[in-house]
Amino acid sequence: MAKLKLILTADYEVFGNGSGHVKNCLTRPAEEIMRICESHDTRVTFFTEVCEYWAFREMQEQGWFSAEYRPASWMEEQLKDAVKRGHDLQLHFHPQWLEYEMISDQEWKLNYDLWRLPNVPDGSGNENDPKSISGLFAKGKKTLEDLARSVNPDYQCRAFRAGSWCIQPEEEILKVMANTGILYDTTVAPGVKLDDNLSYYDFRNAPEDLPSWNISNKVDRVDESGKITEVPIFTADLNSTQQIQFQTTKKLRRISNRPENCTGEPATKTLDFVKKDSKFKKIVRLYTTRPYMLDFCGTSFDEMMFLIEAAKKRYRKFESEEPVPIVAIGHPKNFGNPKEFKSLLEWVDKKDFIELESLEEKSFWQA
Ligand SMILES: [Zn+2]
Repeated sequence: MAKLKLILTADYEVFGNGSGHVKNCLTRPAEEIMRICESHDTRVTFFTEVCEYWAFREMQEQGWFSAEYRPASWMEEQLKDAVKRGHDLQLHFHPQWLEYEMISDQEWKLNYDLWRLPNVPDGSGNENDPKSISGLFAKGKKTLEDLARSVNPDYQCRAFRAGSWCIQPEEEILKVMANTGILYDTTVAPGVKLDDNLSYYDFRNAPEDLPSWNISNKVDRVDESGKITEVPIFTADLNSTQQIQFQTTKKLRRISNRPENCTGEPATKTLDFVKKDSKFKKIVRLYTTRPYMLDFCGTSFDEMMFLIEAAKKRYRKFESEEPVPIVAIGHPKNFGNPKEFKSLLEWVDKKDFIELESLEEKSFWQA
């Protein structure tokens, strides 16, 4: 049996409507994630949301924030420090930030027509138009390279995850990615789907038994000749007993999905036009077996362990010389469970069938 390798990734961002204090919801919990990782000699890869960073940088330079609030500088300092310490940065977009109006430090009017990446105009391949798919990738890659190479000249931006998993329809995007030198996509969460008037994705056709696959024009279709490798976020089915058990554990242990003093709210809660699940639908969902992502933020150790055991079962007979990548997702803004995360890394350290990425070796996305 091939050994598994746990690849920890976290989307580095505030909430999708612009709410959330950058220190309380982003840099402080991100620092805590890094410290816990380092105590187990492993790294986190921050999928860095550059669109909000550009907005913060612009507003900060023009002096619009209150005196003590310096979000762009805080993010830059932390991202450079992260690279210095052996962590990785890769690309993530929430294009609603391409058209913004600042109301106050943590209050923004964003263009939700651009929420889904495919809604950004293609710009006919004009790399100089940052409000086009090609321009966005060119500028995003350059932003991360400028930041990271000031600390590590060997840094490579080679992986991407779409904001809110909204990459479909993806033909144009994958073409641009291949042209920009992006070799990995890690947006797909096999089996998961959503259509709520804001986000749209449907990964029910993605292979559920492959740890990664080559793609050309569809993220969920294997194409051996494809230049990009899809390395999905690991998902496994939970039946109703398991869902109820993990929800109860969270309640009993008072596991929060917010770090201390982080008071932002997700856009799905605050925007009127987003379809919300009724109480009845929530109950039905609880009684329906459905796929869960391996998420290390806001979850219990028990749930994470269950999903990793599912990975072990799934790849029991999988033959490969390289370790099988198991991608976990997280968000600093949901990191209310440091104890649970510590327990997970301690547990993984003791197991022979799975290993952590070492800080000494090259990042999975850059190797
Ligand atoms: Zn995101």
